[in-house]
Order: sequence, then C-alpha cells, then structure tokens
Amino acid sequence: MNIEIYNTFSKNNQKFEPIDEKHVRLYVCGPTVYDSIHVGNARPIIVFDVLVRFLRTIYPKVTYVRNITDVDDKIIIQAKKNKENISDLTKRTIKLFSEDAKSLFAINPDYEPRATDHIQEMLKLIKTLVNNGNAYLANGHVLFSVSSMPDYGNLSGMNLNEMVDGARVEVAEYKKEPADFVLWKPSEKGELGWESEYGFGRPGWHIECSAMSEKYLGKEFDIHGGGLDLIFPHHENEIAQSCCAHKTKIMAKYWMHNGYITVNNEKMSKSEGNFITVRDALDKFNGEVIRYSLLSGHYRSPIDFSFEGLKESKSALDRLYRSSEGFNFDNNIDEEFSIALSSDLNTPLAISRLHELAKESNKGSKTAGQLLKSSSRLLGFLNYDNSKWFIQNIEIEEKNIEKMISERNRARQDRNFELADKIRDKLANLGISIEDSENGTKWRVN
Ligand SMILES: [Zn+2]
Repeated sequence: MNIEIYNTFSKNNQKFEPIDEKHVRLYVCGPTVYDSIHVGNARPIIVFDVLVRFLRTIYPKVTYVRNITDVDDKIIIQAKKNKENISDLTKRTIKLFSEDAKSLFAINPDYEPRATDHIQEMLKLIKTLVNNGNAYLANGHVLFSVSSMPDYGNLSGMNLNEMVDGARVEVAEYKKEPADFVLWKPSEKGELGWESEYGFGRPGWHIECSAMSEKYLGKEFDIHGGGLDLIFPHHENEIAQSCCAHKTKIMAKYWMHNGYITVNNEKMSKSEGNFITVRDALDKFNGEVIRYSLLSGHYRSPIDFSFEGLKESKSALDRLYRSSEGFNFDNNIDEEFSIALSSDLNTPLAISRLHELAKESNKGSKTAGQLLKSSSRLLGFLNYDNSKWFIQNIEIEEKNIEKMISERNRARQDRNFELADKIRDKLANLGISIEDSENGTKWRVN
C-alpha cells in the first residue's frame, strides 16, 4: 500500500517512505500540563492516534512518542495563581490528561517522556550547540543564534523580518538577533530550576522536544506531528537545534500539522476564552462521539465545534453500531477504506465508506458487516457492545427522554396525535420504545 502524506516541510503531498521499513518512528508534541485540555487540544491526540493505528496495519513496528511538557512559564504562573505546589499541579494535570485521553479512546504512546526527567539530556544538547558555535551566553541565558544556521526558517517559510513583525518572537536587548531563542534561562532562588554550568535555571520549551525525540527515536526519524500553531516558532526551533547539534540535514522526514478547532469560526483557545474542555463535552457525550466529530473533517482543515455537531455524530455512530451488530473484530480491513486513509489520512472519506458498508450490511451483506466492524476499529470506533453503547448514551440522555415522554403525553391529552406520533418516532430513532398503561408511560431500550 502506498501512503501519501502532506509534508509541511516540502509543502506538497509525498509518498511515505520510512527511513527504516522495519521500524517507523513518530513524535508528536504533547500537552503543557497546567490545566485540563480543551477540544482543540484533543485534535492532535486523535488524529495521530489514527495515523499510528493505520501505520501498524502496514509496518511491523511503529514507535510512537508523545511528550509531556511539565516545565514551562505557564505552569509556574498557574501554580502561583492556584497557590499550589508546581509538582502537585503537574501531577494532578497529568492525571486529568490521561483520563481524558482514555475517555477519547486514544491508544497510549509507546513512550510518554516528561521534560523534567530529561534535563541532563537537554543540557548535553545545549553544550554541543555552544561548542558548535550555534549558541551563546548572554545575560544569564543561553540563546540559539539563528544567523548561525543558513536554513533557519525553511519549515515555516518565514524570513527573519516576518518573524519579528509577526511579534511572535520576544525582543530582548541581550539578543544578537531578535529571532534568537532561549535554550536555558535563569531561575530565581526557590523557583523551579536545576543547577547547571550556565547557572541555576530551567530549559526553554523547544529544547525538550529535540532532546527527548533523540533519546527515544534517534537523530533522524520519520514523522513529526503537532498542531498548526506549532510550526513557528516551536518546530522551526526544534529543527534548528537538532540539525545543528547532530550536523544532520533533517530532524524528521515528514512534518504533519493538524488544523484548528473553531467555535463560530474563531480558533478555540484558552486565551480567547471560547474553549470547551474535553471534560465538559464528556459530560454530555461519550468520548467516541467527540472522536467521531473530530475525525469527520480532514485533519488539515478547520472543524467548527458545536454540541449540535456532536448530536449528529452520535446519530451517525448509532447507525454504525446497528449495522455492525453481531459481527466480531478481525484483521480484514476494507480496501476502499484503507485507500482513503492512505491518501493523506482522509478520515472523512474513510467514514463515508463506513456508511456505505453499513448500508450494504443492512441489505444483508455479511461481508460488508464484517468489514464495517473491523475497519471502524482503525478510527477507534465501536468500542462497546451494542447494548452497552445504547444504554450508556441513554444514561446521558435520560433526562432528555423523560422530557420527550412528558411532551408526548401532553400532546396526547391535547389530542394532538400527529405531534405525539412524531415524538414516538423520534424516540424510536434513539432506540427507545414506549409502552402506555394505566400507570403511565414506561420506556425501554430496544
Ligand atoms: Zn515539541
């Protein structure tokens, strides 16, 4: 099977050819653990989860690394705000994150390294960069000198002026160039920090991914992923650090970036305040529904998030559950479905193929039902037995159902049988049948 991937680096679709056919290696930037994640943060977790599941159907070994950033100014600020110890805050947030990832049916990465466990690796990398003439000491900081790397800016395609004009770099007097970035910075006594030859301090954000990807995947690996907002400066800087330290041409062969989740067409973000946490969404819908919704658009396009959209995703998943009932998982994956995923992970096309299979299964095709069941697993769907799926969702919607039943009873009292029937049909679509008796209306799950 030929896989095509859109490579942010080359800005076109490329045939995926791993460095080592026997071992595909992939790194995805994980969360900064200062608060629970929102739906926008969940997108890369789900997108790259599907990529890993798919690659594992083709290659004998796939190593998937997703880091945890547990040292960052955002964490320090949040801990102060909460009047909480930094390690208590990060421990608590990591636990929340793991629970959210589990609720979204994301498979665990093979390695989930924490930045604070890799300070020595980072310091070693920083030392190499200083020795190679790519980094310098100034005002207690160690800074990467962007002018020491002729290729700097190749991933984002930005030139130095654009970087400064975009105000995405911090201008500071002690920098040789405004775009120079921090590898190590001083910490106050009593603040989070480590002793080093550059003084008591802490690492910059970018250096951790260079250090941890090298440790777990090597100096050059296949795929590096993350959200669109990480292209500049984070990934640009990772490339600069890794390539200059290792004297390599590439850090990763393919760079993949997922698009934003939007709310009313504005990027969902903590700073905009228009975010919905995964937890809030999980209160109303199963994690599988959120997953479906985030895979219903192509990973590079924006997806506008709404609870209305989740409702539609739930109905769509209900159809897949009904049409695959009675079949077990096996290793046969539908070919058209695989071709869709091989074409730059076209999940919306893959999902529409699942619905075609569902239709064929409803017409009696056992092959289609079987393929539907097994192929769905690659997208992380159909995690429940049918009875459990419908009951679970009903628990969430129980209140809704009771409300609908009383509306129907009111309609019947008003002799508005048309409306009463409509509500009955609606309930039937949800998999609920109702029985009227002298003692009132009872309902049950089909
Ligand atoms: Zn990173």
